[in-house]
Amino acid sequence: MEDLYKYENTKRIVDKYDFVFKKKYGQNFLMDKSILDEIIYSADISKDDVVLEIGPGIGTLTQLLAEKAGHVIAVEIDKELIKILENDTLKEYNNVELINNDILKMDIGELTSRYKHRRMKVVANLPYYITTPIIMKLLESNAPLDSITIMVQKEVADRLISTHLDKDCGAISLAVQYHSEPSIVCEVSREAFIPSPNVDSTVIKLKILKEKRIKVTNEELFFNLIKVAFGQRRKTLVNCINNQTSYFKNKEEILEIFDKLGFTPNVRGEKLSMEDYKNLAEEISKRS
Ligand code: SAM
Repeated sequence: MEDLYKYENTKRIVDKYDFVFKKKYGQNFLMDKSILDEIIYSADISKDDVVLEIGPGIGTLTQLLAEKAGHVIAVEIDKELIKILENDTLKEYNNVELINNDILKMDIGELTSRYKHRRMKVVANLPYYITTPIIMKLLESNAPLDSITIMVQKEVADRLISTHLDKDCGAISLAVQYHSEPSIVCEVSREAFIPSPNVDSTVIKLKILKEKRIKVTNEELFFNLIKVAFGQRRKTLVNCINNQTSYFKNKEEILEIFDKLGFTPNVRGEKLSMEDYKNLAEEISKRS
């Protein structure tokens, strides 16, 4: 195996296939051996594990995953890269399954169902333009995931790791807290990639909780309220709920429930805790 984190090896592959990096797919390849080692170490992979990698690129991380894991499923949107992976960089590995698809169009539950009795881990250097939808998709998939170890833009990592909600938080911060124990693995300078992106990155690990952080009866309603609350940040929560849902006939009904739950009438979504959303969802459930 040729170490692809070495510039001359990646350059040889790029030149051989006349590969042109596609900005629209967030193609920034990781070239730093110490960061790759940190990712592999913190993901804690063994031969018992099945790893899902999103966006293998030319296979720099994939090769290391294949050495450690029992099986690797690698989903790559770019056909040109699939050709390189199949014919060249991954051809020595018989435990890697390559799928040419858009991860956002795939059913993660179905993709992982063949391995439901194995420990399943996600490891990826994510394309930044779709970080949030990918994380939401993974968390909402109900696939038997043990952990998600991912490289994301530094600002996104700060938001995901934060335990107190503030104006920078989004629905995703609550979803991460609800499903997992998040931690920072390491910070990564933009210089560690070719081509170099405009932002620095952070590797984070989301250890999926066996029991969700709080017990919620109607998860769909709970998350719908959170998405509605964070969808129009400049509006008060009453207005968000009134404009975007049909749980209540009018604002007065919403304010009645707010009063009962001890929320101020002009509260914004980011000021409420996960428990507050759970209580609100329960009050709404009681009415229907
Ligand atoms: N894993 C490689 C590395 O660490 O060097 C490449 C990471 S690069 C940041 C992101 C990769 O995700 C690219 O290979 C890109 O083509 C792929 N990608 C982008 N959008 C995708 C999507 N919707 N589904 C699957 N792969 C995608």
